[in-house]
Amino acid sequence: MNVYDSRRMEDVLRPLGYVSTEDMAEADLVILNTCHIREKAAEKVYSDIGRIRQFKDARMKAGMETFLAIAGCVAQAEGAEIMRRAPAVDMVLGPQTYHRLPELLEEARAQRAQGRAARVMDTDFPTEAKFDHLPDDAGNVGPSAFLTIQEGCDKFCTYCVVPYTRGAEFSRPVDAVMDEARRLVASGAVEITLLGQNVNAYHGLDAAGESVGLGGLIRLLDQIEGLARIRYVTSHPNDMEDDLIAAHRDVPSCMPYLHLPVQAGSDRVLEAMNRHHTRASYLAVIEQLREACPNIALSGDFIVGFPGETEAEFEDTLDLVRRVKYAQAYSFKYSPRPGTPASLVEDQVPEEVKSERLQRLQALLNEHQQAFNEGTVGQILPVLLERTGKRDHQLIGRTPYMQSIHVDVKNQLDVDATQEEAYNLIMNTVQHVEVISAGPNSLEGRLVLKGETQSVA
Ligand code: SAH
Ligand code: SF4
Repeated sequence: MNVYDSRRMEDVLRPLGYVSTEDMAEADLVILNTCHIREKAAEKVYSDIGRIRQFKDARMKAGMETFLAIAGCVAQAEGAEIMRRAPAVDMVLGPQTYHRLPELLEEARAQRAQGRAARVMDTDFPTEAKFDHLPDDAGNVGPSAFLTIQEGCDKFCTYCVVPYTRGAEFSRPVDAVMDEARRLVASGAVEITLLGQNVNAYHGLDAAGESVGLGGLIRLLDQIEGLARIRYVTSHPNDMEDDLIAAHRDVPSCMPYLHLPVQAGSDRVLEAMNRHHTRASYLAVIEQLREACPNIALSGDFIVGFPGETEAEFEDTLDLVRRVKYAQAYSFKYSPRPGTPASLVEDQVPEEVKSERLQRLQALLNEHQQAFNEGTVGQILPVLLERTGKRDHQLIGRTPYMQSIHVDVKNQLDVDATQEEAYNLIMNTVQHVEVISAGPNSLEGRLVLKGETQSVA
């Protein structure tokens, strides 16, 4: 979501004459968009500020206007602290106020004009919806674009800061989502990933004032010409409604891949986490999904070493992983977050135990990921080709199951065309690719020529 938010900040700043740069020495404005979900990410902010300050000081000495803004959830949670600890920071803005960047910049400039240091902070949860105040211009998007449809969370898992930093659950209206999706497709998107902290809790209103769930929204998006692939992330198991599961069966552009975090495999731990689902109810949802869409690939999030987690409870997580066999997964050591109930529990799991459990879990998850990848060898899969690879005649894309695949396109090259012309013909399109080999993190494949598809399949 921070990638999406950063792009929207660019949209807000473009009318003011800003363009993005990769070179910090060139930047009139540096925005550090931050994440507060785990301690490590939050800690990095201060070291990054130190690094950016050197560029800023050098530019200011040379008489060039330079502002440093801290945005995102660390800004939301620790804005006052950042202002206190880091005098180099001119502006602090939360994830719900970045549409106000032009006013904040103006204020910072006015403060400097009075001979003061700029010190502007906006971490409100404004009643005006941010999305209503963002410009329509989608700028230049790649073949795969993000689109936030839902924000915030009312679930209050006991380890998680999201409800405090992103605020209450909010769904954007259907028409606003459809308009933005059409603009993204017109700007080159072939795939759209719908975003939300609790994306499948989506219940936006349509023009008639009726509530539409995520399944309904996917069916509407599927009708947009040129939009080949729809994904969504992240989902809560309790919000996997029947209609959404049916969309995986019925809607061709709804990809057979789902990120469905479970966090832990023990019912006692799940309850202490306030997850409101059990191991059995999670497994039942997976079964329903596999019935609707037999080739669906699953991914998940796991937390090891939640306060009070015993060895036997951790083994319940391993056991659940063995049952589901994830195609991909993200796993983390529990990180106590300020203000969350779990951080106050005295029975914290020692760091070395967390590390050892994480290693065991990751070894198992990697084994399953490798096995999943190997299972696709020999298959012909539709691949969205997104960029050029390091080798000649190599393009990189993604399979429906989110696997990264290096594709040899030599046999597709027309003898009369230059390599660039040939690439342009197939880049940003979905092509049939035969998977030739599989590694733990990516696949190798070969472009299947037109007409060859039927014979090979
Ligand atoms: N809304 C999603 C995920 C939100 S945060 C869900 O309900 O699953 C993304 C992931 O970060 C979570 O799934 C969780 O695995 C991890 N996470 C969140 N808080 C954490 C914490 N305090 N320590 C370790 N991992 C955490
Ligand atoms: Fe955090 Fe997800 Fe739980 Fe909401 S449902 S509190 S975002 S982990």
